[in-house]
Amino acid sequence: MLKQTMLAVFALTIVAGIGIAAVQSQPDATLLAKAKAIHERVLTVDSHVDILGPAYATPALDPGKPTDLKCDLPKMKAGGLDAVFLAVFTSQRPEWNAPGYKAVYDEAIDRFDAIDRLRKMHPELCELARTPADVERIEKTGKRVILVGVENGYPMGDDVRNLGVFYDRGARYVTLVHGSHNQLADSSGPAEPKHNGLSELGKKAVAEMNRLGIIVDTSHASAKAFWDAIAMSKAPIMASHSGCTALARSDRNLDDEQLKALAKNGGVIQIVALGSYLKEDSPERAAAVRKLREELGFGGRGARRPAAGGGGQPPAQVTPEQQADRQKIRAVMQERMKEIDAKFPPATLKEFADHIDHAVKVAGIEHVGVGTDFDGGGGVPGFNDHSEALNVTVELLRRGYNEDQIRKIWGGNLMRVWREVNRVAGK
Ligand SMILES: [Zn+2]
Repeated sequence: MLKQTMLAVFALTIVAGIGIAAVQSQPDATLLAKAKAIHERVLTVDSHVDILGPAYATPALDPGKPTDLKCDLPKMKAGGLDAVFLAVFTSQRPEWNAPGYKAVYDEAIDRFDAIDRLRKMHPELCELARTPADVERIEKTGKRVILVGVENGYPMGDDVRNLGVFYDRGARYVTLVHGSHNQLADSSGPAEPKHNGLSELGKKAVAEMNRLGIIVDTSHASAKAFWDAIAMSKAPIMASHSGCTALARSDRNLDDEQLKALAKNGGVIQIVALGSYLKEDSPERAAAVRKLREELGFGGRGARRPAAGGGGQPPAQVTPEQQADRQKIRAVMQERMKEIDAKFPPATLKEFADHIDHAVKVAGIEHVGVGTDFDGGGGVPGFNDHSEALNVTVELLRRGYNEDQIRKIWGGNLMRVWREVNRVAGK
């Protein structure tokens, strides 16, 4: 889940939803056949997808059927994607106190329940994996593999034992912090640090994650919190959905020194498919988008909320009239964004693959993977949902990657990290 307002998610969803026809030519048939064959043979994992909280995995929003979500089980199957980490994402309260922790802890448990509903609704289509061996076993059955990550350590509160509760519910990574500082770590978002990296509690949390066998995820963490996590963790760490600063300056991305440190640590960067982290907006594009938003009444931050969308946010209560109004605005926005995109092209599959290339060049082929942030703002023309996962492989083949390298990028590296984290935990 990206850190900006839900409005930004709304806008990005619209931008990303425009489709690939204008930007991406059809992959050539030979490469596509080759990519399909590779997906048959290798394990493919996406390390970061958001879910829509209370409505997720109910008859109203059933990911076992084709939906508007970027990740549902039919799309995963169509794209040859085997496994996905669904994010138990929670936003947080401004106060770091017991009532805030309790309220958000309860929200996190609701998200775990939603993921449980999915596997219970479709036991013939998917299964929850708790170990790397589970992943391999489930993949062989042809079912989709469901994995769980917790995005934002806030719901842990001030008690590291809650990490054990999350682990028991299936969580195998925890993203320490999100768009604001929390009690564990400084976020990459705010300019001023609060803890100057990890707090004492954050350091305890890292130690507890090492003990339990939970991967420490530093996406959204400040640079200093990243360096603290690298220094503290006895096991490899990961950035579950980040890009490379060298190609796009963003507080969410890792610079080359961080990439090298991640390699030394044995960890992995999972390249995000969120356009604004892959390609910096030109001032002209930013101005055009700003103007359009103002015109459509998206004045203040969070002035409007999406009727539905990523980020695991509860849907707002809206009247049918408001719903119709939003749909109208959405349609206008979509049309006008097409014009802006034609003038100032946004990031596409090409930039996504450029970030993979760069991370491979700097950190090495053993330390790069894929973490889309689908349904949390992620998705670019050419790789806009899981049904298009084969396009990524086609692009990698085009760029000269061989099957072994593609296997590493599409999940081999992440599985190695997980196994190493388990080994350190004595599991
Ligand atoms: Zn995120």
